[in-house]
Amino acid sequence: MSDRSVVFIGLGAMGLPMASRLLAAGVAVRGFDLSGTARARFTTAGGQTFPAAAEAAAGSDVVILMLPDSKAVDAVISQIRGVLEQGALVIDMSSSEPQRTRELASDLSKDDEVHLVDAPVSGGVEGARAGTLTIMVGGEPTQVERARGLLEHMGTVKHAGPVGAGHAVKALNNLLSATHLWVTSEAILAGERFGLDPRVMLEIINGSSGRSGSTENKWPNFILPGTYDSGFTLRLMLKDMRIAADLARQVGLASTLGEAAIEHWARADRQLGPAADHTEVARCVAGTDHSNLPG
Ligand code: NAD
Repeated sequence: MSDRSVVFIGLGAMGLPMASRLLAAGVAVRGFDLSGTARARFTTAGGQTFPAAAEAAAGSDVVILMLPDSKAVDAVISQIRGVLEQGALVIDMSSSEPQRTRELASDLSKDDEVHLVDAPVSGGVEGARAGTLTIMVGGEPTQVERARGLLEHMGTVKHAGPVGAGHAVKALNNLLSATHLWVTSEAILAGERFGLDPRVMLEIINGSSGRSGSTENKWPNFILPGTYDSGFTLRLMLKDMRIAADLARQVGLASTLGEAAIEHWARADRQLGPAADHTEVARCVAGTDHSNLPG
């Protein structure tokens, strides 16, 4: 089956460049976002936009969602489910909650004969622009194969398992990534106060066992230059960390270090506010001065 009628809902920092990749590949993409600014950007990129989600989704074979969280996904699905064709495919590329995704997939298939696969991504805004995202897909093999052609315009497809598996691995990945970023910031800043050059430290660590996405990408590209413009907000990262910790609780596994990282990130979120880039946590670590603590 060839799905050529595609609607893309959620045209923000990630959704706009991802939908633009589809346009560049010749796919006719209908777009919707709550934000008029986001809709205007998509029109400028060559897409067709609609004033309501249901208008955009009517008659589409495939609906791609790139929304902040499960709450927004549920809101959009409730607006569009009445207009979806039987057999339509919803691809949720947002970083949503795996258990809610499973429940939603089951509801959609029972009540509307609509299929759902989860396909969250890693690689950031740069990866979205370049079409080099890692796409973690959960779903039935037939539906994953159906989605593959579209997804491959945006990155590399990794089939993680059944529905919800993509959302689970994405949240767990981000708990790791956020925990690395905090401890990396502590290590680099401690080294700097000891008199080391952060760039030299990063070069050495990137050839050693302490390396991670934080040392290879976030510190050199967004923190050291002081731009803090990765395009991924601190608040969305914190949301993902909490999803991962909930998952660990559901399966009865203690996530002690992860829970500690969440406390630090939640404090940074309170200090920096909703618009802060996630790389700005390094500024909070830098502001934590232990020199006056009793020894
Ligand atoms: P964003 O806030 O820039 O974009 C989300 C868009 O969804 C906004 O334009 C918003 O107006 C729109 N939206 C919200 N509710 C809506 C609704 N009910 N109907 C229609 N539109 C609605 O966020 P983003 O950075 O693009 O992230 C999107 C998802 O991708 C999140 O789940 C995030 O965790 C994940 N993610 C982001 C990055 C990144 O680097 N930014 C990387 C990987 C994954």
